Amino acid sequence: MRIPLSNVTLTDDAKRYATDAIQSSWISGTGPKIAEFEQALAEKHFRRHAIAVANGTVALEIALRALDIRPGDEVIVPALTFVAPAAAVRSVGAKPVFVDVTSGNWTIDPNLTERHINRHTMAIIAVDLLGHPCDYADLQAVRGDADLIEDAAEAHGARYKYLPVGNFGFASTFSFHANKTISTGEGGAILTDSKNLHHLTRLMVNHGMETSRPYWHEIIGTNARMTNVTAALGLGQVEHWDELVAARNLVAAKYDERLRHLFDNTQLYRRPVAEWATEACWLYTVAHPHRDQIIVKLRDKDIDARAIWPALSRLPLYHDSVRGQYPVAEKISGEAFWLPTWAGMPDALIDEVCDRLRDSVHSMETITCVPTT
Ligand SMILES: *Cc1c(COP(=O)(O)O)cnc(C)c1O
Repeated sequence: MRIPLSNVTLTDDAKRYATDAIQSSWISGTGPKIAEFEQALAEKHFRRHAIAVANGTVALEIALRALDIRPGDEVIVPALTFVAPAAAVRSVGAKPVFVDVTSGNWTIDPNLTERHINRHTMAIIAVDLLGHPCDYADLQAVRGDADLIEDAAEAHGARYKYLPVGNFGFASTFSFHANKTISTGEGGAILTDSKNLHHLTRLMVNHGMETSRPYWHEIIGTNARMTNVTAALGLGQVEHWDELVAARNLVAAKYDERLRHLFDNTQLYRRPVAEWATEACWLYTVAHPHRDQIIVKLRDKDIDARAIWPALSRLPLYHDSVRGQYPVAEKISGEAFWLPTWAGMPDALIDEVCDRLRDSVHSMETITCVPTT
């Protein structure tokens, strides 16, 4: 593909810190950069604690384990998301229960969430989908005794009202996978203000072992540590957090400007944004009823546009998690697609994607083209 879906941006500081870490021989899950990265991440999000882990999926699994979620429990998960939150719930033996998203902003619907809460519901995983926060005031109002876990993997830098995502879960998780806005290759983190949750999480990430009491294991843990080299990359990325977020938002603004005419005059539409939200573009997302044909045409021109995930309610593996219908999630999953997006994507490439998209959409629709002056 000549225009890839995404590209990684590593800051010069990230490369320098990682090189230093390698030269220092601190390459395992022990070393000075881990605590520095964790502190920078916690401070950036006004949280008391951040625990660095190997990836964003394991961050969710450990958060669920630390909250003592187990077989027999139910955890509410949006029907439209990358699969990791649902898989994490299954990995601790609990049952994900799918709730539809809102057409207004594509995140989990708080009213429907309330209707699916019962005495087995131990937690809600709120996914800040595609750079957009969930409606946290309404989720807090309906959650009852269920703990809120925030999966902010796709929304680094997005804000709900004035606060950045990463603030809204009893545990909030991030992924720093190479395709995420702030990336370390593979990586993740759990953020919390709870001393108890922090303590448990630390133990679980490192074999259930107190650092002050080597080889004495109070609980079942695992090895989910982030390496010092990865944390060094992470520190160099977090120090440039706002620039990395702004760079993608600039690309989104350029797409918005170039595609406005199509949004106004064709069936192409943009991912909607709630008035209380500040979006932080991860992958620029648009939708069209003839999405699949449009993607074929873009791919013919070597543009790596991609359809978003199927609604989880459509996966046979999760038929047990289905409760009724998911009209919004299924409509979006049939129409939405990603356009190539990365920090510093050149204008010429954005123009090329938009030109091809315009041709494809026009060929799908018989519309009167009003020439722009
Ligand atoms: C990417 C992603 C994850 C998983 O992160 P990894 O670091 O790839 O394990 C979890 N949740 C969501 C919503 C994601 O998009």
